[in-house]
Amino acid sequence: MSIAAFSHLKEIQSLDNMIKKHLDAIAAEEGRLEHINALRKRAQDEIENLTNSVSQKKVTTQNLEKELFDWENKLAKAEENLPYATNEKEVSALERDRSLSQENVDDLQEKILTLLEEIEEHENLIKGKEVFLSGSQETLDEINLEIEIETRQERQQITNYEARIEVLRQEVPGSLWQTFSEARKKHRFNLPLARILNKSCEKCRFIVDAQTASRVEAATGYELCTQCGRLLIPLES
Ligand SMILES: [Zn+2]
Repeated sequence: MSIAAFSHLKEIQSLDNMIKKHLDAIAAEEGRLEHINALRKRAQDEIENLTNSVSQKKVTTQNLEKELFDWENKLAKAEENLPYATNEKEVSALERDRSLSQENVDDLQEKILTLLEEIEEHENLIKGKEVFLSGSQETLDEINLEIEIETRQERQQITNYEARIEVLRQEVPGSLWQTFSEARKKHRFNLPLARILNKSCEKCRFIVDAQTASRVEAATGYELCTQCGRLLIPLES
C-alpha cells in the first residue's frame, strides 16, 4: 500500500473543511429567511384559528336566528291574541307569554349582534394577515434571489472542491476508500482522519492496542478508532 493514498485522503479532509466553510456561509445567508418564515408561519396558524372560529360563530349565529324566529312568532301570537282574551286569567297568561317572549327576543338579538360583530372583527383580522402574507412572500422572493446571487460563488467553489475530491477518490484503492467512507460518513466536517499519538487516537484519546498500531504504521491494514470511528493513518503519511 502506498503512503500516497493517505495523502490523498488528507487532501480530501482539507477539501471537506473548505466545503464546510462555504456551506456555513450559505447557511448564514439563508438564516435571513428564518425570521420572515417564522412570522409567516405564525400568521398562517392565526388565519387557520380565526377561520375555524368564524365558521363556529356562523353556525352558532344560525342556530340563534332559528331560536329568535320561534320567539318572535310566540311574541306575535301573544300580542295577536291579547285583544281577544275573555277573562283576567287569560289576559295575565298572555301577558306573561308576551313578556317572556320579549325577553328572549331581546336577549337573542343582543347575542346575535355580538356574534356578528365578532365575526366581522375576525374577518378583518384575517384580511390583514393575508395582506401580510402576500407582502412578505414578495420580500421572501426578493431575498431568495439575493441569496441565490450572493451564494453563487460559494456554490461554485463547492462544486470545484467536489470535482477535485472525485479525482482523488479514483487514486485511492477501493478497500481503503470504503473504510475511509465509514469514518467520513460520521466525521466528514469534523476531521475523519486520526494519527496514533502516545499510543492513542489523537482525536478522542482512546488507547490503540499495539497490534493495531503496528498494522496502521506499516500500512498493512485499515483500521477505524474503536471509540470515535475515525480512520487511523500512519504517522508518516
Ligand atoms: Zn478516536
